[in-house]
Amino acid sequence: MKYAVIVPDGLGDWPIAELGNKTPLEAAHTPNLDQLAKEGILGTLQTVPPGMYPGSDVCGLSLMGYDPKSCYTGRAPLEAASLGIKVGEEDKVFRCNLVTAKGDILEDYSAGHVSTEEAKELISTVSKAFGTKDLQFFPGKMYRHILLCKKGNDFEVQTAQPHDIQGQKFEPHLPKGRGSDIFTKLTLESRSVLENHPINQKRTKEGKSKANMIWLWGGGVKPKLEPFHQKFKGIKGGVISAVDLLQGLGHYLGWRVIQVPGATGYFDTDYKAKAKYAIEALKDLDLIFVHVEATDEAGHSGLAQEKKKAIERIDEAIVGPLHDHLRKQGSYRLFVAPDHYTPTAKKTHIADPVPFIFIGSDTKVKSGKGYTEANAKSTGVHVEKGYLLMRRLIEGWDAI
Ligand SMILES: [Zn+2]
Repeated sequence: MKYAVIVPDGLGDWPIAELGNKTPLEAAHTPNLDQLAKEGILGTLQTVPPGMYPGSDVCGLSLMGYDPKSCYTGRAPLEAASLGIKVGEEDKVFRCNLVTAKGDILEDYSAGHVSTEEAKELISTVSKAFGTKDLQFFPGKMYRHILLCKKGNDFEVQTAQPHDIQGQKFEPHLPKGRGSDIFTKLTLESRSVLENHPINQKRTKEGKSKANMIWLWGGGVKPKLEPFHQKFKGIKGGVISAVDLLQGLGHYLGWRVIQVPGATGYFDTDYKAKAKYAIEALKDLDLIFVHVEATDEAGHSGLAQEKKKAIERIDEAIVGPLHDHLRKQGSYRLFVAPDHYTPTAKKTHIADPVPFIFIGSDTKVKSGKGYTEANAKSTGVHVEKGYLLMRRLIEGWDAI
């Protein structure tokens, strides 16, 4: 039996006037997803446990079969793992975004999607100015970097997610709580070394946003996660994702973390390569988890057409070829589910149950409906504990 999971990040959406009052999923031409939904089980999945926030980390844990309520310890430690950063038991790790500040407004959580090469130099400058043996900066991808606080696990710092406060004054959202002064100081002083940095001068000339401030958030300690092959009867898994967070989760789970050339985590990602590498990996792995970030990025940027296009590319280049392969090679089970909604009108995540498809060589139920948010709601099939969908994938839909 082979298993696959396809995650179009932030896929769920609301009807948009620009798309004729359809959601991007409804507006997109998705023959493969529609066929799978018709021939399989279509329903809704609660990936965010009550009281938790709808982050890709919490939702990712759910989709990978782990209850976030019992094992979530923050986002940044997961991303740190994917960068090979050793996190000790007494350490605390923060996400360090490069952002664009204009006056007192946080204008862009991604600093105009600054390139990884440019960001590396900027973070190196921040590190030279403010790094110490206890405060270590590590460059990641694009705007996503890491601050490791050695022996910092007694900090009780509350932070704001930068994508939630875009366009707002940032002062009221600076870190609060025990030990927060140092983080506030780092944030505010980072502007002095970044504002006129040669890279930002160059970006200004090119008409791009400056990456002129850091924003620290998502702090957490090292999580304790039972390896996947122990939790699920010796199943060997792998993950394909351009996003550090999901690669980090893969590391903690003991999955193979598969690097795909051309996987960027943005609209221009190489969709076909992801499917090709997934199929290749299934030669010796039992399970492959394929994540695509482009749909979420389009949602955050409020770009309905880009989101629709990304969904069509996922359908054509990933869902079609991967399902074809699974069907031809023998027995299989597959589910498709976003981690959360990222409504284009809202530009951030919400915790509503997501639409999922579950299909396999032994699936008897046929929903008869195409893949849309409304159709998924209309079937009445609902999985309240999101992490149990993975259990059903491995043990069969009727196992629970
Ligand atoms: Zn997102």
